[in-house]
Amino acid sequence: MPIAHLNIGSNQGDRQGNISLAVSLIDKQAGHVLAVSDPVESPPWGYDSANPFINVGINIDTSLTPFDLLDTLQAIERQISPNPHRNPDGTYRDRVIDIDIILYGDVHITTPRLTIPHPLMHQRPFVLSPLRQLTPPPQQRTR
Ligand code: AMP
Repeated sequence: MPIAHLNIGSNQGDRQGNISLAVSLIDKQAGHVLAVSDPVESPPWGYDSANPFINVGINIDTSLTPFDLLDTLQAIERQISPNPHRNPDGTYRDRVIDIDIILYGDVHITTPRLTIPHPLMHQRPFVLSPLRQLTPPPQQRTR
């Protein structure tokens, strides 16, 4: 089954508790959770707020298609918090939970609703550092 790498963030309420709940709901509803990175704490990216984020990366083994995975992750976000993710003008706001699909196997998708690999991943240290931890580069061969 395809392995997907997801990034989960929270900067509202019990941030670590929100992320742990998301991981357990993902394991039940989206795919078996294979690995969870260490948490990374960083200031909000792309907007101003006094509330820092915690982010983790996870690897899952999933039988869902990329679009079904997105639907399921968005349903999980709503189960954890009904609060909107964006302001009415589309700008970012504080959020209880945010789940992004970063990679899905070696699939490339570019549509208005879903882009994989995630288009902003290379600009976001809180995505790259968990990804590096869970997907280390191939080991140098030793003789
Ligand atoms: P946000 O409000 O920041 O959580 O962004 C969610 C929006 O990004 C949704 O409308 C998704 O359809 C869209 N989106 C596009 N690509 C992705 C992706 N790789 N992972 C999660 N959401 C995505």
